[in-house]
Amino acid sequence: MSEELHNRIRERYETRLSVEPPFPTKRMKIEVSNYCNHSCIFCGRHKMTKQSGLIDGAFYKRIMQEAFDEGVREVGLFINGEPFTNSKLHELIRIAKQIGYEYIYLTTNGALATPKRLKEAGRAASSSNETMRRTT
Ligand code: SF4
Repeated sequence: MSEELHNRIRERYETRLSVEPPFPTKRMKIEVSNYCNHSCIFCGRHKMTKQSGLIDGAFYKRIMQEAFDEGVREVGLFINGEPFTNSKLHELIRIAKQIGYEYIYLTTNGALATPKRLKEAGRAASSSNETMRRTT
Protein backbone atom coordinates (compact mmCIF):
# COMPACT_ATOMS: atom_id res chain seq x y z
CA MET A 1 0.00 0.00 0.00
CA SER A 2 1.39 3.40 -0.92
CA GLU A 3 2.26 5.77 1.88
CA GLU A 4 -0.17 8.36 0.51
CA LEU A 5 -3.07 5.88 0.54
CA HIS A 6 -2.09 4.67 3.99
CA ASN A 7 -2.09 8.25 5.29
CA ARG A 8 -5.49 8.99 3.73
CA ILE A 9 -7.04 5.92 5.32
CA ARG A 10 -5.45 6.67 8.68
CA GLU A 11 -6.62 10.30 8.59
CA ARG A 12 -10.18 9.26 7.74
CA TYR A 13 -10.59 6.43 10.23
CA GLU A 14 -8.53 7.67 13.15
CA THR A 15 -10.78 10.72 13.26
CA ARG A 16 -13.88 8.52 13.39
CA LEU A 17 -12.52 6.13 15.98
CA SER A 18 -11.05 8.73 18.26
CA VAL A 19 -12.93 9.58 21.45
CA GLU A 20 -11.84 13.16 20.98
CA PRO A 21 -11.53 13.73 17.24
CA PRO A 22 -8.97 16.33 16.30
CA PHE A 23 -10.49 19.72 15.59
CA PRO A 24 -10.62 21.49 13.30
CA THR A 25 -11.68 18.85 10.83
CA LYS A 26 -11.85 19.51 7.07
CA ARG A 27 -15.39 18.19 6.63
CA MET A 28 -18.75 18.70 8.28
CA LYS A 29 -22.45 18.36 7.64
CA ILE A 30 -25.09 20.87 8.56
CA GLU A 31 -28.83 20.26 8.78
CA VAL A 32 -30.57 22.82 6.56
CA SER A 33 -33.97 21.15 7.06
CA ASN A 34 -35.22 18.21 9.03
CA TYR A 35 -38.53 18.03 7.21
CA CYS A 36 -38.98 15.28 4.69
CA ASN A 37 -41.52 14.62 1.97
CA HIS A 38 -41.01 10.84 2.19
CA SER A 39 -41.48 8.23 4.91
CA CYS A 40 -38.95 5.52 4.22
CA ILE A 41 -39.45 2.65 6.65
CA PHE A 42 -35.73 2.32 7.33
CA CYS A 43 -35.23 5.99 8.18
CA GLY A 44 -34.19 7.08 11.65
CA ARG A 45 -36.26 10.26 11.33
CA HIS A 46 -39.27 8.39 12.72
CA LYS A 47 -37.53 8.19 16.09
CA MET A 48 -36.46 11.82 16.03
CA THR A 49 -37.89 13.72 18.99
CA LYS A 50 -36.60 17.19 18.19
CA GLN A 51 -38.86 19.73 16.53
CA SER A 52 -38.93 19.82 12.75
CA GLY A 53 -37.91 23.00 11.03
CA LEU A 54 -35.58 24.85 8.72
CA ILE A 55 -32.25 26.28 9.73
CA ASP A 56 -32.23 29.95 10.64
CA GLY A 57 -30.38 31.94 7.97
CA ALA A 58 -28.30 34.08 10.34
CA PHE A 59 -27.35 31.04 12.42
CA TYR A 60 -26.35 29.13 9.27
CA LYS A 61 -24.15 31.99 8.10
CA ARG A 62 -22.44 32.32 11.47
CA ILE A 63 -21.76 28.59 11.87
CA MET A 64 -20.53 28.27 8.30
CA GLN A 65 -18.13 31.20 8.72
CA GLU A 66 -16.85 29.99 12.09
CA ALA A 67 -16.29 26.46 10.78
CA PHE A 68 -14.50 27.81 7.71
CA ASP A 69 -12.29 29.97 9.93
CA GLU A 70 -11.40 26.78 11.85
CA GLY A 71 -10.31 25.05 8.65
CA VAL A 72 -13.42 23.24 7.38
CA ARG A 73 -13.47 23.16 3.57
CA GLU A 74 -16.08 20.50 2.69
CA VAL A 75 -19.71 20.74 3.75
CA GLY A 76 -22.72 18.46 3.31
CA LEU A 77 -26.04 20.34 3.49
CA PHE A 78 -28.14 17.55 5.00
CA ILE A 79 -28.41 15.31 8.02
CA ASN A 80 -31.89 14.22 9.12
CA GLY A 81 -34.08 15.55 6.37
CA GLU A 82 -34.58 16.37 2.74
CA PRO A 83 -32.57 19.49 1.80
CA PHE A 84 -34.92 20.50 -1.03
CA THR A 85 -37.73 21.06 1.51
CA ASN A 86 -35.82 24.24 2.29
CA SER A 87 -36.88 26.69 -0.42
CA LYS A 88 -33.75 28.76 0.29
CA LEU A 89 -31.39 25.87 -0.48
CA HIS A 90 -29.83 27.72 -3.41
CA GLU A 91 -29.18 30.73 -1.17
CA LEU A 92 -27.51 28.49 1.40
CA ILE A 93 -25.31 27.01 -1.31
CA ARG A 94 -24.43 30.50 -2.52
CA ILE A 95 -23.44 31.56 1.00
CA ALA A 96 -21.22 28.49 1.38
CA LYS A 97 -19.58 29.26 -1.93
CA GLN A 98 -19.09 32.93 -1.05
CA ILE A 99 -17.44 31.99 2.23
CA GLY A 100 -15.02 29.85 0.27
CA TYR A 101 -16.05 26.22 0.74
CA GLU A 102 -14.30 24.07 -1.85
CA TYR A 103 -16.69 21.13 -1.86
CA ILE A 104 -20.42 21.50 -1.21
CA TYR A 105 -22.66 18.46 -1.51
CA LEU A 106 -26.00 17.04 -0.49
CA THR A 107 -28.00 13.86 -0.52
CA THR A 108 -31.57 14.08 -1.74
CA ASN A 109 -34.46 11.75 -2.48
CA GLY A 110 -34.86 13.81 -5.64
CA ALA A 111 -38.64 14.22 -5.54
CA LEU A 112 -38.48 18.00 -5.08
CA ALA A 113 -35.43 18.50 -7.27
CA THR A 114 -37.28 20.00 -10.20
CA PRO A 115 -35.29 21.28 -13.19
CA LYS A 116 -35.86 24.85 -11.97
CA ARG A 117 -34.53 24.14 -8.49
CA LEU A 118 -31.59 22.15 -9.82
CA LYS A 119 -30.68 25.07 -12.07
CA GLU A 120 -30.89 27.47 -9.12
CA ALA A 121 -28.69 25.18 -7.04
CA GLY A 122 -26.26 24.70 -9.89
CA ARG A 123 -26.00 28.43 -10.52
CA ALA A 124 -25.38 29.05 -6.81
CA ALA A 125 -22.76 26.30 -6.71
CA SER A 126 -20.89 27.71 -9.67
CA SER A 127 -20.99 31.27 -8.37
CA SER A 128 -17.92 32.82 -6.87
CA ASN A 129 -17.04 36.07 -5.20
CA GLU A 130 -16.04 37.28 -8.64
CA THR A 131 -19.41 36.44 -10.24
CA MET A 132 -21.29 37.69 -7.17
CA ARG A 133 -19.61 41.07 -7.57
CA ARG A 134 -20.57 41.16 -11.22
CA THR A 135 -24.24 40.34 -10.62
CA THR A 136 -24.88 42.66 -7.69
S1 SF4 B 1 -35.98 10.41 1.97
FE1 SF4 B 1 -34.24 10.25 3.38
S2 SF4 B 1 -34.74 11.60 5.09
FE2 SF4 B 1 -36.61 11.22 3.97
S3 SF4 B 1 -37.61 9.52 5.01
FE3 SF4 B 1 -36.38 8.67 3.33
S4 SF4 B 1 -34.38 8.20 4.18
FE4 SF4 B 1 -35.44 9.53 5.63
